[in-house]
Amino acid sequence: MKFKPLFNKEIKRPIVIAGPCSAETEEQVMETAKALVKQKVDIFRSGIWKPRTRPNSFEGVGTKGLRWLRNVKEETGLKTTTEVANAKHVYETLKFGIDVLWIGARTTVNPFSVQEIADALEGVDVPVLIKNPINPDLNLWIGAIERIYKAGIRRIGVVHRGFSSFGDIKYRNTPMWQIPIELMRRFPELTFICDNSHICGSREILQSVAQKAMDLNFHGIMTEVHPDPDNAWSDAKQQITPKTFEQLVKGLVLRKATSDDKDYLENIEDMRHQIDQIDNDLLHLLGKRMQIADNIGLYKKKKNISILQPTRWNEILEHAAKEGAKKGLSKEFISVILKAIHQESINHQEKVMNQNNSQGSR
Ligand code: PEP
Ligand code: MN
Repeated sequence: MKFKPLFNKEIKRPIVIAGPCSAETEEQVMETAKALVKQKVDIFRSGIWKPRTRPNSFEGVGTKGLRWLRNVKEETGLKTTTEVANAKHVYETLKFGIDVLWIGARTTVNPFSVQEIADALEGVDVPVLIKNPINPDLNLWIGAIERIYKAGIRRIGVVHRGFSSFGDIKYRNTPMWQIPIELMRRFPELTFICDNSHICGSREILQSVAQKAMDLNFHGIMTEVHPDPDNAWSDAKQQITPKTFEQLVKGLVLRKATSDDKDYLENIEDMRHQIDQIDNDLLHLLGKRMQIADNIGLYKKKKNISILQPTRWNEILEHAAKEGAKKGLSKEFISVILKAIHQESINHQEKVMNQNNSQGSR
């Protein structure tokens, strides 16, 4: 796939998308837009049709909100974006000259809905932002991108808004940064936006999540801004005032993707060389460790002992967590890496133990 930037001339970084979670009244929409146009906001967001998790919540003002967005565009010059979840939404938003469409997380999960949107977009040249599906399924996200691409849309952006999980108290939607990082590795030409509002679910860590996105080379942010956040009709806990938003954007430290500075290039090459050497050493050691696992497998087979030894495994984990902490390695990291090593070790032992079984006994 070959993507294009969202707009013909690429806007400088960060691309800033801001506005209320939902359009509530004509006044609230215009008041927010007028405050945001004074800042360096590129696109004004506002949900018109709201996909709410539970019924009896505010489900959006519907089509009449499109007129409000058109007025925002006319009065402030801001580009506008809203969420579309079916073909009717697409036709209506295009009729009202909405500049960018976005597909929400609850829609990306459903290939029928994404295909319906794609069919409605056939022959239209409009930028489309695709939020990640609510579950951490990279292929489902890529599938949605492919469906929209096949309809002829080239100006595609993706919005990372985190993934649903049970029991995460820090985030409303766990970021699992490895998923957008992998998407970036596979499709470096896509435009990457971080929706810090839906990742956080509360105001306190909006800044640090936006900064993290900048550090990971995202092109921009999408943040929910409301003139009176506490009394917002949806997502009240995570919305911030235009003034707070202005501080958030001003506080972002922007990093360059790379540099051709001679000093930088020399030093980074040297440090990368050191890293490559260590990676080689690690691979060599892991290979050696697995050879021993093979020997253990053969020995256990001879003595007819089971592969998994829970007490020994616990000891290894506890010891590594302690030693790792002394070296500044987090418990989570140690646990992930050791579990992977342990699994590989089990696979090796299983292989040698069962090697000759298929030939039967002689
Ligand atoms: C929103 O942006 O207001 C929204 C509903 O987001 P999501 O699809 O990420 O839940
Ligand atoms: Mn919202």
